[in-house]
Amino acid sequence: MFDALSDKLQATLSDVRARGTLTEDDINKAMREIRLALLEADVNFKVVKSFTANVKERALGADVLGQLNPGQQVVKIVSDELTSLMGGAAAGVSFSPRPPTVILMAGLQGSGKTTATAKLARHLREQNGSSVAVAACDVYRPAAVDQLVKVGAQAGATVYEQGTDRDPVDIAGWALDRAKQEGKDVLIVDTSGRLHVDERLMDELVRIRKVVRPHTILLVVDAMTGQDAVNVAEQFAQAVQFDGVVMTKLDGDARGGAALSVKAVTGKPILFASTGEKLDQFERFHPDRMAQRILGMGDVMSLIEKAESQFDEDQAKDLEKRLRKGEFTLEDFLSQLRMMRKMGPLQSLLGMIPGFAGNQLKNMKVDERELDRVQAIILSMTVEERRRPELINGSRRLRIAKGSGTSVQQVNGLVKQFGQMRKVMQQLGKGKMPDMAALMRQ
Ligand code: GDP
Repeated sequence: MFDALSDKLQATLSDVRARGTLTEDDINKAMREIRLALLEADVNFKVVKSFTANVKERALGADVLGQLNPGQQVVKIVSDELTSLMGGAAAGVSFSPRPPTVILMAGLQGSGKTTATAKLARHLREQNGSSVAVAACDVYRPAAVDQLVKVGAQAGATVYEQGTDRDPVDIAGWALDRAKQEGKDVLIVDTSGRLHVDERLMDELVRIRKVVRPHTILLVVDAMTGQDAVNVAEQFAQAVQFDGVVMTKLDGDARGGAALSVKAVTGKPILFASTGEKLDQFERFHPDRMAQRILGMGDVMSLIEKAESQFDEDQAKDLEKRLRKGEFTLEDFLSQLRMMRKMGPLQSLLGMIPGFAGNQLKNMKVDERELDRVQAIILSMTVEERRRPELINGSRRLRIAKGSGTSVQQVNGLVKQFGQMRKVMQQLGKGKMPDMAALMRQ
C-alpha cells in the first residue's frame, strides 16, 4: 500500500532537500513530479490539481525561497498538505449522552462491512470499555448473518439476529429495543450491500436510518477498488449523508488513490482503517501519521501505541529490574519475543520506524523464519535449561537441536549470543559502558 507513491515522493523530496537554495524552476519541476506520482497512485485528478496548486503556492511564498534549508520547508509543506488532504486532525465516533449510541454501517457487498462491524465492536469495547451489541440486518448476502454471529461473538459483542426472512428494517427496530432493554452502550447495525449502488439499497438504508436514528453513519469502502471506491462514496453521500469512512483492505497493494481522494471528494474523513482479515487489524485513522509514513518519516506514535497495548507495565518493570541484575533468562527472552510478534509482522513494524519505508523496506526483507527457529530452540529446552543456559552441555545441545529441527551449531549460536546480551545488559544496568572488545573476544 502506498509503496510506489511513497518511493516517488521520497525521491523527489530528497532531490529538493539536497539543494542549498531553491529557485522557482526547481519547485515547478518538483511539482510536476509530485503531480505524476499522485496521478499514478490513482488519486482523483481534481484533487491532484488543487493539491499541487496549494503546495506550490505555499512553497513559493516568501518563507521558503532563499531561506536556509528550503528543502526541509518544502517537505514540511507536502506533509502538512497530505495531512489536510486526508482530513487534518484524527476524528472518532461521537457518543450519545443517552445510550445506546447507534452506529449504522453502510457499503457495497464485499467491501468488508460485516468484518468491519465486528472489528469496530471489538475496538470500542477495548478502547472505551463499552458494552456493544451488533444487529445483523444484512439479510441480502448469503451467510452474512451467520458470519456476523461468529465474528461478533469473537469480538465480545452481543449479536442480535432474526435470520434472513424478516424485513431488515423491522430487525433493526427490534434490535434497538433490545439494546435499550439490555442497557448496551453501543449498537452497531450491519446493513445489506449490493454489487452496485441501486435504489433499493439506498431506500432500505434510509428506512433503517429513520427507525434507529443513528448518531453516526459509517461508509465502508474497499481501498483496492481505487477511484471506483471514491465514486461509490460520492453516490452514497448524495443519498444518505454519512459521517465518516472505514477504509478497508489497506494491507493490499492498492495504490492509495482512494484513501487520498475520499475526503476531498465527499467532504467526509476516514475515521478507521482496516489492514487485514483478523479482528485486531483495525485502527483509528490518523491523517498526520499516514502522511508521515508515506513520506518515509515513520510513524513512531502508532508503534508506541501498539507496544503499549501489548506490554504490561508491572511486567515491564519487573523485567527491567531483573535485566539490571543480570537475571534475565531465556524464558524471559521467549516471552518478550512472543509479545513482540503479537504486535504484527516485523515488516509492518519496521515500516513505522522513520527512514524505513518504500524501497529500503523491500530490500530489508525480515526473515520471520529466523524468529520461528529461535522460538523452536528455546521451546525445546527444559525450564531449568532456559533459566540456567550454562547447564547446556554437549548431549543436551544435541537433544535440543533434534527437538527443534535445527543444528547443534544453531543451538550453540543462540546460547552464546544470549550470554553476550545478558552481559551487556548487566553492565548497562550498573551504569557502565560495556566493554565490547572484551565481549567480542569471548
Ligand atoms: P461485506 O459483504 O461487505 O459484509 O464483506 P465481508 O466483511 O464479508 O468482507 C469481504 C472479504 O474481505 C472477506 O473475505 C473479508 O475477510 C475480507 N476483508 C475485510 N476487510 C479486510 C481487510 O482489511 N483486509 C483484507 N485483506 N481483507 C479484508
